[in-house]
Amino acid sequence: MIKKVLIANRGEIGLRILRACRDMGIQTVAVYSKADQNLKHVRLADEAVCIGPAASRESYLNIPAIISAAEIADAVAIHPGYGFLSENADFAEQVERSGFTFIGPPASVIRLMGDKISAKKAMQKAGVPCVPGSEGALGKDSTQNHALARDIGYPVIIKAAAGGGGRGMRVVHSEASLNSAIATTRAEAEAAFGSGELYMEKFLGHPRHIEIQVLADQHGNAVHLGERDCSMQRRHQKVIEEAPAPGITEQQRHDIGQRCVEACQRIGYVGAGTFEFLFQDGEFYFIEMNTRLQVEHPVTERVTNTDIVQAQLRIAAGEPLWFSQEDIRIDGHSIECRLNAENAETFVPSPGNITQYHAPGGPGVRMDTHIYNGYTVPPYYDSLIGKLIVRGDSREHAIRRMAGALSEIVVDGIHTNIPLLRDLVLDAHFAEGGTDIHFLENRLKARR
Ligand code: ADP
Repeated sequence: MIKKVLIANRGEIGLRILRACRDMGIQTVAVYSKADQNLKHVRLADEAVCIGPAASRESYLNIPAIISAAEIADAVAIHPGYGFLSENADFAEQVERSGFTFIGPPASVIRLMGDKISAKKAMQKAGVPCVPGSEGALGKDSTQNHALARDIGYPVIIKAAAGGGGRGMRVVHSEASLNSAIATTRAEAEAAFGSGELYMEKFLGHPRHIEIQVLADQHGNAVHLGERDCSMQRRHQKVIEEAPAPGITEQQRHDIGQRCVEACQRIGYVGAGTFEFLFQDGEFYFIEMNTRLQVEHPVTERVTNTDIVQAQLRIAAGEPLWFSQEDIRIDGHSIECRLNAENAETFVPSPGNITQYHAPGGPGVRMDTHIYNGYTVPPYYDSLIGKLIVRGDSREHAIRRMAGALSEIVVDGIHTNIPLLRDLVLDAHFAEGGTDIHFLENRLKARR
């Protein structure tokens, strides 16, 4: 087994990785910025190394500083968490070249899946269903682009090959605005991602977001752990996630899961990964793959009785998968709410000192958070302060548990989105299940 892991991240996921390491008897090295010396996992880690000032660019995104810290602390492997450098192929490459194990897939696979055009091509080859659209990148020929859009059928969406975080895309409803939409998206993509490469897809009007969790080892074995429904989103940011997805049949899960497993084997995938799909009128359409651990991984853990972070560590150590697809059962229902330090109505970030924190508890309740009484949420990073995860025997049971846990939790001193979460879990449409990705935004609009 790996002896010592450097955790190249912060916040709740830093703590989550630390806990997994501790469970396995692995030593930990935390790295932190000058704004983060009071982080919970920094205090709990066997060793902690300051890697730079508050600005992410100079700390959590500073590749040489992180690799030096690994050298100083004599770490064996580096876990990138999510966000920051987790999907940076150059980082993975430099980690390996410096003699450390990168806990994730090979750099070449990160690169392949990081470009949405090459990812889509690879998925089509592997038989994964994709959104109908252009074959590869859009050219500059306006007549051709118009013909293509007509073939696909309006509305279409123009997307940047290098896009991410919900940026670099534009919906086009009619012929008249196609040229200008392409030009604007191209200019934006060049400025934001350093590449103006674009592609075109059919725009789906009322899809749900459903994703498949996979695990693949270094020996060609892969399994899927079922799906998650992450349709409750605001500005492409997930707010509530659940597993399994309401209304998805055993057969649908098996079919799409098997496609993903085969795709993993074809592209040489290693580690934990997620295939994201839009789901509309009973069909799945691949949109992208995340080659890393995801924020919402706990809902899958709760219904499959697995530990995805420990699995990442065992796979990185070279262990062959220790269970097969038949061993995986979906048992019960799990829901996660993301707790953000932000105003529940205006969504303005609300960093500051937490004067009072009471955690919810009881059977089936899990709280993944780095906050504690007196902790100050710094203004420099993502506003996620924790994740509340429940498991119930049925979806109704899980919803009741979540409502109960949300009524117990107290976070004082800063604004949080807890009031919004309380509203949402009691919503009649949410109770029905299967709301689409526009549900939350429409609901917020109606409230204004
Ligand atoms: P990013 O990498 O920026 O997250 P994605 O390709 O995952 O980009 O798309 C982000 C979101 O944009 C999706 O969750 C969905 O809400 C919307 N979207 C993307 N492609 C389409 C499409 N073809 N039709 C409708 N909505 C889409």
